[in-house]
Amino acid sequence: MRRAAVAAITAACALPAAQAAPDSDCSLLSRRLPRLTAASCEAAALIPSGAHSVKGFPLYQRDVPARTAADAATEPKPTPRILVVGGVHGDELSSSALVFHWIGMAAASPAEIAWRFVPALNPDGLLQARPSRTNANGVDLNRNFPTPDWATEAQKWWVDRTRKDPNRWPGKAALSEPEARFLVETIDRWKPDLVVSVHAPYGLLDFDGPSAPPRRIGRLILDRLGVFPGSLGSYGGLHKGMPVVTIELPSAAYTPTDAEMRSMWTDLLRWAGQHLAVER
Ligand SMILES: [Zn+2]
Repeated sequence: MRRAAVAAITAACALPAAQAAPDSDCSLLSRRLPRLTAASCEAAALIPSGAHSVKGFPLYQRDVPARTAADAATEPKPTPRILVVGGVHGDELSSSALVFHWIGMAAASPAEIAWRFVPALNPDGLLQARPSRTNANGVDLNRNFPTPDWATEAQKWWVDRTRKDPNRWPGKAALSEPEARFLVETIDRWKPDLVVSVHAPYGLLDFDGPSAPPRRIGRLILDRLGVFPGSLGSYGGLHKGMPVVTIELPSAAYTPTDAEMRSMWTDLLRWAGQHLAVER
């Protein structure tokens, strides 16, 4: 008995500091996400960021570094950084699944881009019995980002424009939610040159920011949705001057085909290669 207890403590102490996502979390995620196997989730090798959702689920991320230059003698060019976020809204299941598949594509063929993937920003909404758009506090995370107009406009917009739609509550204050705080801290510390935020189900492409927008990614065509107080596009693209591509997949429940996901990935890489100016 005592020997078993000592062995358990020794095993616990031997765990590395930044361990990968436990298989049990991949089991939960893959059972919920369309066209994502537990093996694909485990292959994504997610790492806990250290931040957690309202209910304490780890907010996972995965970095895929840029390809190293073949010719070490040439002056290294600054590498663009792209942050890809899925599952901001927990009921947009396909958006999380797509990000998992893109992790596999990025890892299989590294580009001259440094990637950070956050496949499920709102795990509480995603994993509850009936997935919800909002987080466990009933907040629409995509209305909780600290845009300069938040204090005057976010609540007003919710009352006047949504008629107090409970799925679009911006929260009591900007950044009241740990999931939104985690993303803003990631942006502040990691300083991405582009944020790609994946949603569903409007089947289009939206863009906020200073550079020329992509006209199409896969089958999705640029069609701007407008500006919302507290949204990530408004915060990043308009306030921080950091381009935000918002991908709206055509279905929340069905993940695109492998061919479509690859076509979107290729188009994103091509556009990023042409349009991301890096000054670091
Ligand atoms: Zn959404």
